[in-house]
Amino acid sequence: MPFHFWSVCFLIFGAVVGSFLNVCIYRMPRGESLVYPPSHCPRCNQRIRWYHNLPLITWISLRGRCAYCGAAISPRYLAVELLTGLAFLACWLRFGLSSPALAAVFALLLAGFIVAAFIDLEHYFIPDEITIGGAVAGFLISFGVPLLHDTSQAAVALRRSIVGIAAGALVILGVLQMAKWLFGRQVFRLPPNSRVVFHENHLQLPDRSIPYEDIFFRKSDVLRMQARQVRGLRRRFALQVRRRGPRIRLRARFLAPERFGSEDALLSLSRDRLSIGPLHYDPADIQQLEAVAEVVVVPREGMGLGDVKFMAAVGAFLGWPGVAFTLMASSVLGTILGGLTVLIRRDRSSRIPYVPYLAMAATIWIFFRPDIMRLIRWWLGG
Ligand SMILES: [Zn+2]
Repeated sequence: MPFHFWSVCFLIFGAVVGSFLNVCIYRMPRGESLVYPPSHCPRCNQRIRWYHNLPLITWISLRGRCAYCGAAISPRYLAVELLTGLAFLACWLRFGLSSPALAAVFALLLAGFIVAAFIDLEHYFIPDEITIGGAVAGFLISFGVPLLHDTSQAAVALRRSIVGIAAGALVILGVLQMAKWLFGRQVFRLPPNSRVVFHENHLQLPDRSIPYEDIFFRKSDVLRMQARQVRGLRRRFALQVRRRGPRIRLRARFLAPERFGSEDALLSLSRDRLSIGPLHYDPADIQQLEAVAEVVVVPREGMGLGDVKFMAAVGAFLGWPGVAFTLMASSVLGTILGGLTVLIRRDRSSRIPYVPYLAMAATIWIFFRPDIMRLIRWWLGG
C-alpha cells in the first residue's frame, strides 16, 4: 500500500476517534457511561442517527445545529475532531516510515492529551481513568514497543518507563509542596470596614467572590482574618426521646436559630472547624456568617494532584528526559499563553488549568526531540 493511502486512513480514523473523544470529554467528568445511552441531543433528547454522526462532515453540513430541534452544537465538537484527525496524520507522517507501531502509540498518547486538556479547561480536573490509566497503559506499551524508549530490549524499556513515572510524579509533588511554602496563601487587603460574607458555596469579598473549593483544597487549609466584628446565625435543634410502648424513638426538633457574634476577634475557618476567638463551632451548623475586616488570608493551591498523575503518565511514555523537557517548556508556555488569556479574558479566578500546557510541551518533545537534543548539546558547547 502506498504511504499516502495510510496518511488518509490516519486522518479519517483520527477524526472518528475525535468524535469518540468528544463523548469522553462530555461524559467522563459527569461520571456517565461512555457507551450507554447512545449519542443524543442534550436539548430534544432525539437519538442521533449514524448518518448524522459523521465526524467533521455532520457539524459542517448542519452548520453546528441539531438536525431535529436546531439547538446549537458547540464548535468544540468540530475542533476536537479536526485536532485529533490532524494529530493522527502528523504521527503517521513523522513516524510512519520508520515505525508504524510508534506512530500508532503516539497517536493514542495525543488522543489522551486532547481528552485531558479539554476536560481540565472546563472542569479544572482530570479523571483518574485518563491519568492513572495512562500511566499503566504507557508501562504496558513500553513492553510491547520498546522503541518508545530508544531501545530494542523490553526490559530496558520497562525500566525507563518506571523511572519516567517516578520522575513525573515526584518532581510535580515537589513543585506542589514548594509552591505551598512559597505562595501557599494569598492576602487580600480590603478597604476599611469591608463586609465579608460567607455564602453557601463561596466567600464574598467587596470586589470578588471565591468559591470554597478554591479555598479548602486540603483538610489543613485554613482561612484567617482579624475581624472587627463577626455576626452569625447558628442552626439549633433539640433531640427528643419518645417512648411508645417498647420502642424508643429519637426525634430532632428544630429551634429558632441562635445569634452569635463577637467584636475584635481572630476568625479562622477550615473544613471542619470555625473558630471565633476562643469559641469553636461546627461549620455544618452555621446558617449565616458575616464579618467586618480589612485583611483576609486565604490558602492557595497552584497545581493539583491531577497534574501529578498526569505527569506520571507522560513519564511512562516519554521517560525522564521527556518529563524534564515537558516541565520546563510548559512553564514557559504557561507564562506566555496564561498571561495572554488572563489579559484577554480578564479572568480573575485563581485556578489555571495546567494540563493543556503540559500536553502542548510534551507534544513538542514527541515531534522535535532530535532537534531539541541537538540544540541542548550545542548550547552546552558539546
Ligand atoms: Zn436536538
